[in-house]
Amino acid sequence: MDKDIIIIGGGASGLAAAISAKKTAPELNVTVLERCDRVGKKILATGNGRCNLSNRSISPENYHGSLDAAKLIRENSFGEELFRLMGIMTYADDRGRVYPHSESAATILNALRQRCEELGVEFLCGADYCVTGIAPRKNGASVKTPSGEFSCRGLIAAAGGYASPQHGTDGTVIKILRELGYKTAKICPAVAPLKTDQSLLKGLKGVRMKGRISAVSQGEILRTEEGEIQFTDSTVSGICVFNLAYLYQQYEGRLTLRADLLPEMDKRQLTDYLFSMRKRKGSFPLEELVTGLFAKNPSVYLVKRAMGRPMTEKISTVTDSEIRSLAALIKAAEFPVTGCAPWQSAQATCGGIHGSCVDGELRSRLHRAVFFCGEVLDVVGDCGGYNLQWAWSSGEAAGRSCALQVKEGR
Ligand SMILES: Cc1cc2nc3c(=O)[nH]c(=O)nc-3n(C[C@H](O)[C@H](O)[C@H](O)COP(=O)(O)OP(=O)(O)OC[C@H]3O[C@@H](n4cnc5c(N)ncnc54)[C@H](O)[C@@H]3O)c2cc1C
Repeated sequence: MDKDIIIIGGGASGLAAAISAKKTAPELNVTVLERCDRVGKKILATGNGRCNLSNRSISPENYHGSLDAAKLIRENSFGEELFRLMGIMTYADDRGRVYPHSESAATILNALRQRCEELGVEFLCGADYCVTGIAPRKNGASVKTPSGEFSCRGLIAAAGGYASPQHGTDGTVIKILRELGYKTAKICPAVAPLKTDQSLLKGLKGVRMKGRISAVSQGEILRTEEGEIQFTDSTVSGICVFNLAYLYQQYEGRLTLRADLLPEMDKRQLTDYLFSMRKRKGSFPLEELVTGLFAKNPSVYLVKRAMGRPMTEKISTVTDSEIRSLAALIKAAEFPVTGCAPWQSAQATCGGIHGSCVDGELRSRLHRAVFFCGEVLDVVGDCGGYNLQWAWSSGEAAGRSCALQVKEGR
């Protein structure tokens, strides 16, 4: 089964690559091999079904990994503009996050599928087309699937990473590429909750609090985010935590989350407030001490964690040093990171094929006919449309450069 271009994976980057390759060289046949029964299943799950397809403010700080993602995105503008040309109305919220006006991810997937159909892209979908082996050759490559072997002149690996295996991505292709000699950066879940010591979460399960949260390693603040912090019985979560999760890759075993649960007040103001509450509420039980600041469950949690006393004791018995400890806890509650959440709850993969394995056109430095795009590469973006924008732009670049190379070699 001879093809001009084969794309492994019909996700966001694979569909962008297919469109870009066909636009660059309409005469080439482009085939997408997708292991799921349809292309783009993950796209339907993005942005809680609304598809946060891009962000209007892209800078190098939003991307992490061994490639200059922001530069590549500047040079490959597949994204909001192109969707508009396909007739999709979009809007951005106050954080620059771009969504389709329909608020439906299906709108985006339909547009991509229709564009592929117009351009004549071939989709082969289902378990029979799951790629289980890759053999690069001098002027092309072949791939193994349960339904047989396909050979091609240009191969684009767009098979994603390990995140969200329920959408077809379990890292198979990264493993195959590693066996072929590709270097990979350390892999761990990103855009995901972080695990902490369960004993520190007793009483916090289900609590959501607005605050400021920092990732700290050996006293150094690595990054600070603001937003809603969510607690489960084993993880700290919320978009602000998602944006810190990639740091686990580099700081495993040395990472702590430090939460300021009342950024509106400085420590001095908070301490004065607590002293005034001791006076005013002296005859009430301890569990009432900070109910003017927080809901009941977090109030009890904070007082218990700071003082370790029965909640039935009177507020008047609180010592000055206990007040200072409570203020310190509210301003800097620490949760040592003990692990990452499972791949099922991660939205992206930190790590992947290392940037040193590709040139500026996303062509392999090891095998000339092989190209890469999307999450298979060692790039991860922040939460907020950055990962899909990387998928579109890297897909555009890989599709174009692969098509140009195959066209020239014909
Ligand atoms: C729940 C959820 C919500 C998200 N929301 C957002 C959001 O709103 N905004 C945002 O920017 N990002 C979001 N992301 C991240 C974003 O979806 C991904 O970064 C992006 O889809 C990656 O695109 P990709 O093409 O590299 O990989 P994928 O979209 O993962 O596509 C890879 C494809 O390859 C196929 N495949 C894998 N292995 C094989 C094989 N061996 N043979 C054949 N096919 C194979 C898979 O089935 C899959 O279809 C979200 C992710 C999740 C899980």
